[in-house]
Amino acid sequence: MTFEFTGKHLIAGEWVAGNGTFASSPAHGPARDFAVGTPDLVDRAARAAEEAFLTYGYSTREERAVFLEAIAEEIDKLGDEITEIGTQETGLPQARLVGERGRTVGQLRLFASHIRKGDYLDRRHDEALPDRQPLPRPEIFLMQRPIGAVAVFGASNFPLAFSTAGGDTAAALAAGCPVVVKGHGAHPGTGEIVAHAIHAAIKRLGLHPGVFSLVQGGKRDVGEALVQHPLIRAVGFTGSLAGGRALFDLCARRPDPIPFFGELGSVNPMFLLPNALSARGEAIAKGWVGSLTMGAGQFCTNPGIAVLIEGPESEAFVATAKRELEGVGAQTMLTDGIAEAYRSGAKRIEGSTGVQAVLTSTCDLRNATPYLFATTGKAWLENHALGEEVFGPLGLVVTVTSEEEMVKIAGSLAGQLTCTLHLNEPDTTLARRLMPILERKAGRVLANGFPTGVEVCDAMVHGGPYPASTNFGATSVGTLSIRRFLRPVSYQNLPHAILPEDLR
Ligand code: NAP
Repeated sequence: MTFEFTGKHLIAGEWVAGNGTFASSPAHGPARDFAVGTPDLVDRAARAAEEAFLTYGYSTREERAVFLEAIAEEIDKLGDEITEIGTQETGLPQARLVGERGRTVGQLRLFASHIRKGDYLDRRHDEALPDRQPLPRPEIFLMQRPIGAVAVFGASNFPLAFSTAGGDTAAALAAGCPVVVKGHGAHPGTGEIVAHAIHAAIKRLGLHPGVFSLVQGGKRDVGEALVQHPLIRAVGFTGSLAGGRALFDLCARRPDPIPFFGELGSVNPMFLLPNALSARGEAIAKGWVGSLTMGAGQFCTNPGIAVLIEGPESEAFVATAKRELEGVGAQTMLTDGIAEAYRSGAKRIEGSTGVQAVLTSTCDLRNATPYLFATTGKAWLENHALGEEVFGPLGLVVTVTSEEEMVKIAGSLAGQLTCTLHLNEPDTTLARRLMPILERKAGRVLANGFPTGVEVCDAMVHGGPYPASTNFGATSVGTLSIRRFLRPVSYQNLPHAILPEDLR
């Protein structure tokens, strides 16, 4: 690599060392030392962000669009270096990192064009009715305004697209909110190099340096201090249910509670309706295995559960899935901790009543090979723990005795990011019964496909009822995700000369 890492935090334009360091733990390549974050640094970053808001929060949409595009350009300039460090730290293949970089700069550019259009401001206007009886009506405008400094927790499994300059950061900056990122300990070097790109864009455009800071992790008190800081107005988080819930609770316990937009776990069930199963069972099984094992199964949209009606077709489906999974080699997982959680999650499923092991794994420390388990609808309905996410390439086939039982399984689900239907035309009646249930359970319902691969676009919802996310009214992917960092303000009877520029 030619890029020289500082190993420091970026606090409002300054590269700052801490009191101690932690060593990165790359899948391959050299370990590097990074400064440990502290609550003091969080305080510096949050204060600078609030100061920056006084200008950035009132910048024009065009100015922010140009900034987002400049970040994308700076990331593109560092392209190969970013891919190299990202691959080393996460163990993800090079092609995946290249694709993820494309997605990251694509998101930044999409937000630039989105705010230029201005629809997201949701501008409303009620004209004055001075002669209305019994009371006149004042003139009222409404518009969405940025909320202030936003904290972002990068994800372990998307070192670029859901991290330092990822979707949360892009949405917040587009809205007019400065950002303080808490770096993920699994990829501190990737975090630093992307922070350099953002820093370069800030310098090039002469923006207030407090618009962006990166505080590396290393100790739990960094994240705790960040979500409790009085100047932080909202949090974007992607990670585990336990971590997300702990931070959500801290936000709720603040003297001034703030929204915590946590994108957490999901098992993304697939329902194979009878006609589709008998007509296309083998193809669906093969497609499932591809989706289940992609990126070592470390996707929040990984379809971990397949529900189908018992019979020869369900047996054939399990046999095909097993055969295909046996052909999938060991893949490196993101961290030792995630690999350990994968193994212990698999043991928990294997030890559950009514579960049969179809394929067990021989993975060692940071490697994963797939697991396949099978159970009955009855055992599933009696044990809610079978519906808890195991992060990795683990599939559970749930065979039910009837359509009625399939509907019951749908009704028993916890909140999901996605639910999938595999159906042919003759399955329409059953699908119509399932739809009102599934759309209450998931942020996205899809048909005849697989949920991995989340399109970044206007109509995407990546969220869902708890525990898929902590806020079922929001999405963390797509242009609607900007809504998390805005709040509506009414302007009543104001002289037009003092209205915000976007309303004049
Ligand atoms: P994680 O352990 O929740 O960590 C995510 C971030 O939150 C890290 O920066 C972590 O800091 C911080 N954090 C977690 N708990 C905290 C606490 N109690 N106090 C303060 N900070 C805290 O998740 P992960 O390591 O990224 O991934 C592991 C799990 O996340 C997976 O098993 C999977 O279930 C889930 N996941 C879900 C998605 C999704 O899109 N829904 C994506 C990726 C991962 P430290 O590292 O410093 O502890």
